[in-house]
Amino acid sequence: MEPLLELKRVSYAYHTKNGETYALSDLSFQVQSGEFIAIVGPSGCGKSTLLSLISGLLRAESGAILLNGKEAETFQKNIGYMLQKDHLFEWRSIYRNVILGLEIQGRLDEKSKERVENMLADYGLARFRDARPSQLSGGMRQRAALIRTLAPDPELLLLDEPFSALDFQTRLSVCDDVWAILRREKKTAILVTHDLSEAVSMADRVLVLTKRPATICADIRIQFEKENVTPFERRSEPEFKDYFNEIWKELNLHG
Ligand code: ADP
Ligand code: MG
Repeated sequence: MEPLLELKRVSYAYHTKNGETYALSDLSFQVQSGEFIAIVGPSGCGKSTLLSLISGLLRAESGAILLNGKEAETFQKNIGYMLQKDHLFEWRSIYRNVILGLEIQGRLDEKSKERVENMLADYGLARFRDARPSQLSGGMRQRAALIRTLAPDPELLLLDEPFSALDFQTRLSVCDDVWAILRREKKTAILVTHDLSEAVSMADRVLVLTKRPATICADIRIQFEKENVTPFERRSEPEFKDYFNEIWKELNLHG
């Protein structure tokens, strides 16, 4: 099966007045449609740079990034990008925040409006449709940001430490929510996180990056014997700490 996303020997350096920062070195991997990938690595190793390259915000200096077998440039609109900060605008209602991407892309029509209304209802935000972002809890805001990212129906979702601004308890429940939403919407996702527990609890596969310039030092498939366990439930399954320790070891060897 052709992978949804393929990176072939991608390298990238930032060139500034003060010299060059080599961020990524010879990085290759494939993502199949429907997979949930987590990427972990030491702080400053190039994780955000990697997502910016995949989204098309940055151009790779060497190597290739293919989505459905095609080179970059035109595919950004098939990719949804969600960041640590939810970037909801206080002067817009939740509904008007959520349709923002569609509006910008000129794709707001009856069908997409209905999709958005359905997602707000399915994911517990219908009651807050006309509220302002400040009236929502941190977890609800992140859910709204996710719906906004999903509204244009992207093929691939990039999540850059989307939970790190939340307190621990909220974070656990938002992980469950986001995981369930992405599963239900059958989305392919790449989650960048420095939290190993989060990676093991949510992903089908964890890629471990070395310190800068980042390259992949381990590609670990995560499988739990028990089926249909939520991220929160995974945390108390016996496999959890084995995966955690395996990734921890890789990070300490190469991080
Ligand atoms: P991570 O997300 O893993 O913490 P980043 O991808 O943000 O790491 O950054 C990787 C390296 O590139 C860091 O050393 C960072 O300081 C550097 N860097 C990031 N953005 C820029 C930029 N716009 N100009 C110069 N250097 C940058
Ligand atoms: Mg980062």
